Amino acid sequence: MSADTPLMPIAGNIDPVPTGRAPAPDVDGKRNLVGLNKDELRAALLEAGMAEKQAKLRGKQIWHWIYNRGATSFEEMTDIAKAQKPWLMERFTIRRPEVVEAQVSTDGTRKWLLRTHDGHDFEMVFIPDADRGTLCVSSQVGCTLNCRFCHTGTMRLVRNLEPYEIVGQVMLARDALGEWPSRPEGRMLTNIVMMGMGEPLYNFDNVKQALTIVMDGDGLGLSKRRITLSTSGVVPMMEKCGDEIGVNLAVSLHAVTKEVRDEIVPLNKKYGIEELLQACADYPGANNARRITFEYVMLKDKNDSDEDARELVRLLKKFDLPAKVNLIPFNPWEGAEYECSTPERIKAFSDIVFEAGISAPVRTPRGRDIDAACGQLKTAAEKKSRAQRDREAAENQAG
Ligand code: SF4
Repeated sequence: MSADTPLMPIAGNIDPVPTGRAPAPDVDGKRNLVGLNKDELRAALLEAGMAEKQAKLRGKQIWHWIYNRGATSFEEMTDIAKAQKPWLMERFTIRRPEVVEAQVSTDGTRKWLLRTHDGHDFEMVFIPDADRGTLCVSSQVGCTLNCRFCHTGTMRLVRNLEPYEIVGQVMLARDALGEWPSRPEGRMLTNIVMMGMGEPLYNFDNVKQALTIVMDGDGLGLSKRRITLSTSGVVPMMEKCGDEIGVNLAVSLHAVTKEVRDEIVPLNKKYGIEELLQACADYPGANNARRITFEYVMLKDKNDSDEDARELVRLLKKFDLPAKVNLIPFNPWEGAEYECSTPERIKAFSDIVFEAGISAPVRTPRGRDIDAACGQLKTAAEKKSRAQRDREAAENQAG
Protein backbone atom coordinates (compact mmCIF):
# COMPACT_ATOMS: atom_id res chain seq x y z
CA MET A 1 0.00 0.00 0.00
CA SER A 2 1.64 3.29 -0.97
CA ALA A 3 1.66 6.35 1.25
CA ASP A 4 -0.76 8.20 -1.04
CA THR A 5 -3.41 5.44 -0.99
CA PRO A 6 -6.61 7.16 0.11
CA LEU A 7 -8.12 6.18 3.44
CA MET A 8 -11.60 4.73 3.57
CA PRO A 9 -13.69 5.90 6.52
CA ILE A 10 -15.35 3.01 8.36
CA ALA A 11 -18.68 3.51 10.06
CA GLY A 12 -18.31 3.45 13.83
CA ASN A 13 -15.51 4.50 16.04
CA ILE A 14 -12.55 2.95 14.28
CA ASP A 15 -9.67 4.21 12.27
CA PRO A 16 -10.02 4.47 8.53
CA VAL A 17 -8.24 1.79 6.53
CA PRO A 18 -6.48 2.18 3.21
CA THR A 19 -8.63 1.44 0.21
CA GLY A 20 -8.16 1.33 -3.51
CA ARG A 21 -11.01 3.33 -4.97
CA ALA A 22 -14.73 3.61 -5.42
CA PRO A 23 -16.33 1.59 -8.23
CA ALA A 24 -16.41 3.21 -11.65
CA PRO A 25 -19.88 4.27 -12.84
CA ASP A 26 -21.83 1.90 -15.06
CA VAL A 27 -20.81 2.15 -18.68
CA ASP A 28 -24.34 2.07 -20.10
CA GLY A 29 -25.55 4.83 -17.75
CA LYS A 30 -28.45 2.66 -16.60
CA ARG A 31 -29.18 2.20 -12.93
CA ASN A 32 -28.84 -1.34 -11.63
CA LEU A 33 -31.82 -2.27 -9.48
CA VAL A 34 -30.08 -5.22 -7.81
CA GLY A 35 -28.76 -4.25 -4.39
CA LEU A 36 -31.26 -1.45 -3.75
CA ASN A 37 -33.48 -1.88 -0.74
CA LYS A 38 -37.26 -1.64 -1.14
CA ASP A 39 -37.40 2.10 -0.42
CA GLU A 40 -34.50 2.84 -2.74
CA LEU A 41 -36.09 0.79 -5.51
CA ARG A 42 -39.32 2.75 -5.26
CA ALA A 43 -37.38 6.02 -5.06
CA ALA A 44 -35.44 5.10 -8.20
CA LEU A 45 -38.70 4.64 -10.12
CA LEU A 46 -40.05 7.93 -8.78
CA GLU A 47 -36.86 9.80 -9.64
CA ALA A 48 -37.08 8.47 -13.17
CA GLY A 49 -40.53 10.04 -13.46
CA MET A 50 -42.99 7.28 -12.56
CA ALA A 51 -46.13 8.45 -10.74
CA GLU A 52 -46.12 7.78 -7.00
CA LYS A 53 -48.95 5.27 -6.81
CA GLN A 54 -47.58 3.31 -9.72
CA ALA A 55 -44.03 3.38 -8.36
CA LYS A 56 -45.31 1.76 -5.18
CA LEU A 57 -47.01 -1.07 -7.03
CA ARG A 58 -44.29 -1.57 -9.65
CA GLY A 59 -41.62 -1.44 -6.96
CA LYS A 60 -43.26 -4.38 -5.20
CA GLN A 61 -43.69 -6.35 -8.42
CA ILE A 62 -40.14 -5.76 -9.58
CA TRP A 63 -38.76 -6.72 -6.15
CA HIS A 64 -40.68 -9.97 -6.29
CA TRP A 65 -39.42 -10.76 -9.79
CA ILE A 66 -35.81 -9.99 -8.96
CA TYR A 67 -35.50 -11.72 -5.60
CA ASN A 68 -38.21 -14.35 -5.58
CA ARG A 69 -38.28 -15.41 -9.21
CA GLY A 70 -34.70 -14.63 -10.15
CA ALA A 71 -35.63 -12.56 -13.20
CA THR A 72 -32.72 -11.09 -15.11
CA SER A 73 -34.77 -8.96 -17.52
CA PHE A 74 -37.95 -6.89 -17.51
CA GLU A 75 -39.27 -9.02 -20.35
CA GLU A 76 -39.88 -11.91 -17.97
CA MET A 77 -42.12 -9.82 -15.70
CA THR A 78 -45.50 -10.98 -16.96
CA ASP A 79 -47.60 -8.77 -14.68
CA ILE A 80 -45.98 -5.56 -15.88
CA ALA A 81 -47.71 -3.89 -18.85
CA LYS A 82 -45.95 -4.53 -22.14
CA ALA A 83 -46.03 -0.83 -22.98
CA GLN A 84 -44.07 0.01 -19.85
CA LYS A 85 -41.20 -2.37 -20.40
CA PRO A 86 -39.25 -0.25 -22.92
CA TRP A 87 -39.42 2.66 -20.46
CA LEU A 88 -37.93 0.48 -17.72
CA MET A 89 -35.33 -1.07 -20.04
CA GLU A 90 -34.09 2.34 -21.14
CA ARG A 91 -33.40 3.43 -17.60
CA PHE A 92 -32.62 0.36 -15.52
CA THR A 93 -30.82 -2.96 -15.57
CA ILE A 94 -31.00 -6.09 -13.42
CA ARG A 95 -27.40 -7.10 -13.26
CA ARG A 96 -25.41 -9.64 -11.31
CA PRO A 97 -21.61 -9.83 -11.38
CA GLU A 98 -20.28 -11.55 -14.50
CA VAL A 99 -19.24 -15.20 -14.22
CA VAL A 100 -15.76 -15.56 -15.70
CA GLU A 101 -15.15 -19.18 -14.76
CA ALA A 102 -16.91 -21.94 -12.84
CA GLN A 103 -15.00 -24.92 -11.46
CA VAL A 104 -16.19 -28.07 -9.74
CA SER A 105 -13.98 -29.99 -7.32
CA THR A 106 -13.86 -33.76 -7.15
CA ASP A 107 -15.71 -33.49 -3.82
CA GLY A 108 -18.55 -31.43 -5.33
CA THR A 109 -17.36 -28.06 -4.05
CA ARG A 110 -17.88 -25.36 -6.67
CA LYS A 111 -15.89 -22.20 -7.12
CA TRP A 112 -16.76 -19.26 -9.33
CA LEU A 113 -14.47 -16.54 -10.53
CA LEU A 114 -16.61 -13.41 -10.81
CA ARG A 115 -16.01 -9.98 -12.31
CA THR A 116 -17.44 -6.61 -11.33
CA HIS A 117 -18.77 -4.21 -13.98
CA ASP A 118 -15.51 -2.23 -13.71
CA GLY A 119 -13.33 -5.26 -14.26
CA HIS A 120 -12.24 -6.56 -10.84
CA ASP A 121 -12.17 -10.28 -10.13
CA PHE A 122 -13.33 -11.97 -6.96
CA GLU A 123 -14.53 -15.40 -5.94
CA MET A 124 -17.32 -17.31 -4.27
CA VAL A 125 -17.48 -20.95 -3.21
CA PHE A 126 -20.39 -23.35 -2.69
CA ILE A 127 -19.86 -26.30 -0.37
CA PRO A 128 -22.54 -28.99 -0.57
CA ASP A 129 -23.09 -31.39 2.33
CA ALA A 130 -25.56 -34.18 2.89
CA ASP A 131 -28.09 -32.03 4.73
CA ARG A 132 -27.10 -28.50 3.78
CA GLY A 133 -25.27 -26.35 1.28
CA THR A 134 -23.16 -23.37 2.29
CA LEU A 135 -22.23 -20.45 0.10
CA CYS A 136 -19.04 -18.69 1.08
CA VAL A 137 -19.49 -15.06 0.06
CA SER A 138 -16.83 -12.38 -0.50
CA SER A 139 -17.16 -8.83 0.82
CA GLN A 140 -14.13 -7.10 -0.70
CA VAL A 141 -11.84 -7.49 -3.70
CA GLY A 142 -8.61 -8.32 -1.90
CA CYS A 143 -8.07 -7.59 1.78
CA THR A 144 -6.13 -5.16 3.95
CA LEU A 145 -5.56 -7.43 6.89
CA ASN A 146 -2.68 -9.59 5.62
CA CYS A 147 -3.28 -12.63 7.82
CA ARG A 148 -0.06 -14.55 7.30
CA PHE A 149 -1.61 -17.97 6.61
CA CYS A 150 -4.15 -16.60 4.12
CA HIS A 151 -3.58 -16.42 0.41
CA THR A 152 -6.21 -13.71 -0.07
CA GLY A 153 -4.30 -11.59 2.43
CA THR A 154 -1.39 -11.37 0.02
CA MET A 155 -3.62 -9.47 -2.43
CA ARG A 156 -3.84 -5.74 -2.05
CA LEU A 157 -7.32 -4.35 -1.32
CA VAL A 158 -8.79 -3.15 -4.57
CA ARG A 159 -12.17 -2.03 -3.37
CA ASN A 160 -15.21 -2.84 -1.32
CA LEU A 161 -17.89 -4.87 -3.03
CA GLU A 162 -21.13 -3.00 -3.61
CA PRO A 163 -24.42 -4.38 -2.24
CA TYR A 164 -25.36 -5.71 -5.70
CA GLU A 165 -22.06 -7.58 -5.89
CA ILE A 166 -22.65 -9.23 -2.52
CA VAL A 167 -26.33 -10.13 -2.93
CA GLY A 168 -25.52 -10.95 -6.56
CA GLN A 169 -23.31 -13.82 -5.39
CA VAL A 170 -26.30 -15.47 -3.71
CA MET A 171 -28.39 -14.90 -6.83
CA LEU A 172 -25.73 -16.39 -9.10
CA ALA A 173 -25.53 -19.46 -6.89
CA ARG A 174 -29.30 -19.84 -7.10
CA ASP A 175 -29.05 -19.52 -10.89
CA ALA A 176 -26.44 -22.28 -11.02
CA LEU A 177 -28.36 -24.54 -8.64
CA GLY A 178 -31.69 -23.96 -10.39
CA GLU A 179 -33.28 -22.68 -7.18
CA TRP A 180 -35.77 -20.11 -8.44
CA PRO A 181 -38.39 -19.27 -7.41
CA SER A 182 -37.27 -18.87 -3.79
CA ARG A 183 -38.87 -21.48 -1.62
CA PRO A 184 -38.55 -22.16 2.05
CA GLU A 185 -38.02 -25.92 1.84
CA GLY A 186 -35.91 -28.37 -0.09
CA ARG A 187 -33.20 -26.09 -1.37
CA MET A 188 -29.53 -26.88 -1.71
CA LEU A 189 -28.35 -23.42 -0.77
CA THR A 190 -29.35 -23.33 2.89
CA ASN A 191 -26.57 -21.37 4.58
CA ILE A 192 -24.37 -18.37 3.92
CA VAL A 193 -21.03 -17.55 5.46
CA MET A 194 -19.46 -14.14 4.95
CA MET A 195 -16.07 -15.77 4.92
CA GLY A 196 -14.79 -15.31 1.37
CA MET A 197 -12.39 -12.58 0.36
CA GLY A 198 -12.17 -9.54 2.59
CA GLU A 199 -13.10 -8.41 6.08
CA PRO A 200 -16.88 -7.86 6.11
CA LEU A 201 -16.79 -5.46 9.06
CA TYR A 202 -14.57 -3.15 7.03
CA ASN A 203 -17.39 -2.95 4.49
CA PHE A 204 -20.19 -2.78 7.04
CA ASP A 205 -22.78 -0.65 5.26
CA ASN A 206 -22.70 -2.61 2.01
CA VAL A 207 -22.68 -5.97 3.80
CA LYS A 208 -25.60 -4.89 5.97
CA GLN A 209 -27.61 -3.72 2.98
CA ALA A 210 -26.92 -6.93 1.04
CA LEU A 211 -27.73 -9.23 3.96
CA THR A 212 -30.92 -7.31 4.70
CA ILE A 213 -32.04 -8.14 1.16
CA VAL A 214 -30.92 -11.78 1.54
CA MET A 215 -32.96 -12.08 4.77
CA ASP A 216 -36.09 -10.38 3.39
CA GLY A 217 -39.01 -12.80 3.53
CA ASP A 218 -40.46 -11.46 0.25
CA GLY A 219 -37.23 -12.11 -1.53
CA LEU A 220 -34.32 -14.47 -1.04
CA GLY A 221 -35.81 -15.36 2.34
CA LEU A 222 -32.83 -16.85 4.17
CA SER A 223 -33.18 -16.77 7.93
CA LYS A 224 -30.57 -14.83 9.91
CA ARG A 225 -29.93 -18.02 11.84
CA ARG A 226 -28.51 -19.51 8.69
CA ILE A 227 -26.12 -16.66 8.01
CA THR A 228 -22.75 -16.33 9.68
CA LEU A 229 -20.47 -13.35 9.46
CA SER A 230 -16.82 -14.05 10.05
CA THR A 231 -14.52 -11.32 11.35
CA SER A 232 -10.83 -11.24 12.10
CA GLY A 233 -11.71 -9.19 15.16
CA VAL A 234 -12.75 -5.65 14.26
CA VAL A 235 -13.84 -5.13 17.85
CA PRO A 236 -15.56 -1.72 17.61
CA MET A 237 -17.92 -2.98 14.89
CA MET A 238 -19.00 -6.24 16.50
CA GLU A 239 -21.81 -4.96 18.68
CA LYS A 240 -23.20 -2.91 15.79
CA CYS A 241 -23.12 -6.05 13.67
CA GLY A 242 -25.17 -7.97 16.22
CA ASP A 243 -27.63 -5.11 16.76
CA GLU A 244 -28.15 -4.09 13.16
CA ILE A 245 -27.68 -7.30 11.16
CA GLY A 246 -28.29 -9.92 13.84
CA VAL A 247 -26.55 -12.81 12.12
CA ASN A 248 -24.38 -15.47 13.74
CA LEU A 249 -20.81 -14.53 14.49
CA ALA A 250 -17.62 -16.37 13.69
CA VAL A 251 -14.24 -15.09 14.82
CA SER A 252 -10.91 -15.92 13.23
CA LEU A 253 -9.04 -16.51 16.46
CA HIS A 254 -6.23 -18.80 15.27
CA ALA A 255 -3.96 -18.27 18.27
CA VAL A 256 -4.15 -17.85 22.03
CA THR A 257 -1.00 -15.88 22.81
CA LYS A 258 -0.29 -12.30 21.89
CA GLU A 259 3.00 -13.21 20.30
CA VAL A 260 1.56 -15.78 17.89
CA ARG A 261 -1.68 -13.95 17.10
CA ASP A 262 0.24 -10.73 16.43
CA GLU A 263 2.21 -12.69 13.88
CA ILE A 264 -0.55 -14.56 12.09
CA VAL A 265 -3.48 -12.13 12.44
CA PRO A 266 -1.75 -8.73 12.57
CA LEU A 267 -5.02 -6.97 13.46
CA ASN A 268 -4.33 -8.39 16.92
CA LYS A 269 -1.79 -5.63 17.47
CA LYS A 270 -4.71 -3.24 17.45
CA TYR A 271 -7.43 -5.30 19.12
CA GLY A 272 -5.90 -7.88 21.44
CA ILE A 273 -7.26 -11.28 22.41
CA GLU A 274 -8.85 -10.27 25.71
CA GLU A 275 -10.55 -7.25 24.15
CA LEU A 276 -11.80 -9.44 21.31
CA LEU A 277 -13.18 -12.11 23.61
CA GLN A 278 -14.92 -9.47 25.72
CA ALA A 279 -16.60 -8.17 22.55
CA CYS A 280 -17.70 -11.76 21.82
CA ALA A 281 -19.14 -12.08 25.33
CA ASP A 282 -21.08 -8.86 24.69
CA TYR A 283 -22.25 -9.90 21.20
CA PRO A 284 -26.00 -9.28 21.01
CA GLY A 285 -28.00 -12.46 20.59
CA ALA A 286 -25.22 -14.93 21.43
CA ASN A 287 -26.40 -17.70 23.73
CA ASN A 288 -26.12 -21.45 23.99
CA ALA A 289 -28.52 -21.97 21.12
CA ARG A 290 -26.60 -19.48 18.97
CA ARG A 291 -23.01 -20.08 19.80
CA ILE A 292 -20.10 -18.08 18.49
CA THR A 293 -17.78 -20.03 16.23
CA PHE A 294 -14.06 -19.64 16.78
CA GLU A 295 -12.05 -20.52 13.71
CA TYR A 296 -8.66 -21.98 14.48
CA VAL A 297 -6.28 -22.86 11.66
CA MET A 298 -3.88 -25.64 12.63
CA LEU A 299 -0.28 -24.60 11.95
CA LYS A 300 2.50 -27.02 12.70
CA ASP A 301 4.63 -26.03 15.71
CA LYS A 302 3.03 -22.61 15.75
CA ASN A 303 -0.30 -22.76 17.55
CA ASP A 304 -1.03 -26.49 17.90
CA SER A 305 0.46 -27.65 21.22
CA ASP A 306 -1.44 -29.18 24.14
CA GLU A 307 -0.63 -26.04 26.04
CA ASP A 308 -2.29 -23.93 23.32
CA ALA A 309 -5.39 -26.12 23.50
CA ARG A 310 -5.56 -25.74 27.29
CA GLU A 311 -5.10 -21.97 27.02
CA LEU A 312 -7.91 -21.85 24.47
CA VAL A 313 -10.21 -23.64 26.91
CA ARG A 314 -9.15 -21.34 29.75
CA LEU A 315 -9.88 -18.21 27.71
CA LEU A 316 -13.27 -19.40 26.46
CA LYS A 317 -14.27 -20.33 30.01
CA LYS A 318 -12.91 -17.12 31.51
CA PHE A 319 -15.23 -15.09 29.30
CA ASP A 320 -18.04 -17.62 29.74
CA LEU A 321 -18.53 -17.81 26.00
CA PRO A 322 -21.20 -19.90 24.31
CA ALA A 323 -18.58 -21.21 21.93
CA LYS A 324 -17.77 -23.87 19.42
CA VAL A 325 -14.34 -24.19 17.90
CA ASN A 326 -13.74 -25.09 14.26
CA LEU A 327 -10.34 -26.63 13.75
CA ILE A 328 -9.20 -26.01 10.20
CA PRO A 329 -6.28 -28.02 8.82
CA PHE A 330 -4.06 -25.47 7.09
CA ASN A 331 -4.47 -25.43 3.32
CA PRO A 332 -1.01 -24.88 1.89
CA TRP A 333 -0.45 -22.58 -1.05
CA GLU A 334 2.69 -21.80 -2.99
CA GLY A 335 4.92 -19.47 -1.02
CA ALA A 336 3.17 -20.03 2.32
CA GLU A 337 5.55 -20.04 5.26
CA TYR A 338 3.56 -22.50 7.36
CA GLU A 339 2.81 -26.19 7.32
CA CYS A 340 -0.30 -28.03 8.40
CA SER A 341 -0.20 -29.78 11.78
CA THR A 342 -0.13 -33.57 11.67
CA PRO A 343 -3.48 -35.39 11.92
CA GLU A 344 -2.39 -36.84 15.31
CA ARG A 345 -1.62 -33.37 16.65
CA ILE A 346 -4.94 -32.03 15.44
CA LYS A 347 -6.75 -34.95 17.07
CA ALA A 348 -4.92 -34.42 20.38
CA PHE A 349 -5.75 -30.69 20.30
CA SER A 350 -9.39 -31.40 19.50
CA ASP A 351 -9.63 -33.98 22.31
CA ILE A 352 -8.43 -31.51 24.94
CA VAL A 353 -11.03 -28.94 23.91
CA PHE A 354 -13.81 -31.56 23.66
CA GLU A 355 -12.96 -32.96 27.09
CA ALA A 356 -13.47 -29.49 28.53
CA GLY A 357 -17.03 -29.60 27.22
CA ILE A 358 -16.53 -27.39 24.17
CA SER A 359 -17.31 -28.74 20.73
CA ALA A 360 -14.18 -28.71 18.54
CA PRO A 361 -14.74 -30.63 15.31
CA VAL A 362 -12.01 -30.83 12.71
CA ARG A 363 -13.21 -29.39 9.45
CA THR A 364 -12.63 -31.60 6.44
CA PRO A 365 -10.80 -29.56 3.84
CA ARG A 366 -13.05 -29.03 0.83
CA GLY A 367 -12.26 -28.09 -2.73
CA ARG A 368 -8.49 -28.21 -2.27
CA ASP A 369 -7.95 -29.32 -5.87
CA ILE A 370 -9.52 -26.12 -7.19
CA ASP A 371 -7.99 -23.81 -4.54
CA ALA A 372 -11.43 -23.24 -3.05
CA ALA A 373 -10.55 -24.21 0.51
CA CYS A 374 -10.31 -21.80 3.40
CA GLY A 375 -7.64 -19.16 3.01
CA GLN A 376 -6.82 -20.27 -0.53
CA LEU A 377 -8.95 -17.75 -2.36
CA LYS A 378 -6.96 -15.57 -4.62
CA THR A 379 -8.08 -14.71 -8.08
CA ALA A 380 -6.49 -16.22 -11.12
CA ALA A 381 -5.44 -12.82 -12.42
CA GLU A 382 -3.52 -12.12 -9.22
CA LYS A 383 -1.89 -15.52 -9.25
CA LYS A 384 -0.07 -14.86 -12.48
CA SER A 385 3.52 -13.99 -11.94
CA ARG A 386 4.82 -10.55 -12.60
CA ALA A 387 6.82 -11.85 -15.55
CA GLN A 388 3.76 -13.51 -17.03
CA ARG A 389 1.76 -10.31 -16.78
CA ASP A 390 4.58 -8.28 -18.33
CA ARG A 391 4.79 -10.77 -21.18
CA GLU A 392 1.04 -10.60 -21.78
CA ALA A 393 1.09 -6.81 -21.71
CA ALA A 394 3.93 -6.77 -24.26
CA GLU A 395 2.03 -9.20 -26.49
CA ASN A 396 -1.11 -7.08 -26.28
CA GLN A 397 0.85 -4.01 -27.25
CA ALA A 398 2.51 -5.77 -30.13
CA GLY A 399 -0.84 -7.16 -31.31
S1 SF4 B 1 -8.11 -14.38 6.61
FE1 SF4 B 1 -9.75 -13.01 5.94
S2 SF4 B 1 -9.21 -11.05 6.95
FE2 SF4 B 1 -7.34 -12.30 7.01
S3 SF4 B 1 -6.22 -11.71 5.14
FE3 SF4 B 1 -7.48 -13.51 4.64
S4 SF4 B 1 -9.36 -12.61 3.74
FE4 SF4 B 1 -8.31 -10.96 4.90
